[in-house]
Amino acid sequence: MNKVLLSIRDLQVRYGDRVALEVSALDLYEGEILAIIGPNGAGKTTLLYAVAGLVPLARGKILLRGQTVNPHQVSYRRRLALVLQEPVLLDLSVLANVLIGLRIRRLPRQEAETRALEALERLGVAHLAHRSARTLSGGEAQRVCLARALALRPEVLLLDEPFSSLDAPTRAALLADLRDLLRQSRTTTLFVTHDQDEALQLGDRIAVLLQGRVRQVGTPEQVFGAPADEEVAAFVGVENLVSGQVVAWSDGGVVVEVGSQRLEVAEEAPVGQAVWVCLRPEDVTLSPADQPLTATSARNRFYGRVVRVEPRGRLYHVTVDCGFHLVAAITPRSLQELGLTSGQEVAVAFKATAAHLLLRGRPAGRGI
Ligand code: ATP
Repeated sequence: MNKVLLSIRDLQVRYGDRVALEVSALDLYEGEILAIIGPNGAGKTTLLYAVAGLVPLARGKILLRGQTVNPHQVSYRRRLALVLQEPVLLDLSVLANVLIGLRIRRLPRQEAETRALEALERLGVAHLAHRSARTLSGGEAQRVCLARALALRPEVLLLDEPFSSLDAPTRAALLADLRDLLRQSRTTTLFVTHDQDEALQLGDRIAVLLQGRVRQVGTPEQVFGAPADEEVAAFVGVENLVSGQVVAWSDGGVVVEVGSQRLEVAEEAPVGQAVWVCLRPEDVTLSPADQPLTATSARNRFYGRVVRVEPRGRLYHVTVDCGFHLVAAITPRSLQELGLTSGQEVAVAFKATAAHLLLRGRPAGRGI
């Protein structure tokens, strides 16, 4: 486990009489990307602004490297960098925009320029250095904002939905580049988003914020596979989330190795790529263990043991251990027909087309 870099303790933010944020404890580890997810109005931006010293705290404290800080003090704020939803650039050249923060921090001109150009290069926008910031597209402008933030080499990078104003292809390209860049530079990052796919692709850990409170913090498997309560489950939409690695191409897709098992997924990804396999419980079928696995046409068929059976609305969620955990949603009638109880052996199946892949930044199984 890495060292804690930033801690939030007993924090409260109010807007007038209304409590918008109440966080008893939240830690950010050195080098990790912590994704904060929550619906609109949950308090995500407020949390980021509280850490950035941009809103007054009604109560509580923030510690950086174990030292309590005054979040409104410039010396603290200079240790952070913030990127907002909409790119904000001054009407200057791209390079001049990136240089401002470095010059304020009194870096000599030559060194500042080298660093600024290096950051622009890493974000793939060095060729725009001498263009006026006014002439950039939304995607280019957000890349420049990220370069400006990273050039500062902040101890903590704060990202407030930086992809939300971009179209889908621009967003996907920037997300992939940023993921690689943050991993390589091991930049400690607090990343706010309402988009669960973004959180999965970028976050090492995920914190779920609902109605101003952190309701769960954990690895993606913990949060999506075992939500802390019904409200978290309703927000994350309990999914099967299995980490693995693409090991081969198959007919119309790829083979993903998960522990000692191999799954077929009808999507494309490079061999060697670490991935999340996402699967809706409704797409997982169960049948008696004494039936041959070939009885189904689904490409993925395993035997496993029932771990638990839980009522979920009008259905039941059955967790099966088949070398990895899979949750199947079944009707009360199927539950009765199958007569499922904990420990019982059962056959599990799902189609290659039912699974969806998300690319991971780290090799499978390597957490923080
Ligand atoms: P979104 O995803 O919509 O950006 P969010 O999770 O970032 O939402 P916040 O913007 O932090 O949520 O807002 C949390 C709550 O505080 C909301 O109810 C919002 O209306 C309220 N709020 C935010 N800023 C202010 C303000 N300056 N004055 C009063 N209320 C505010």
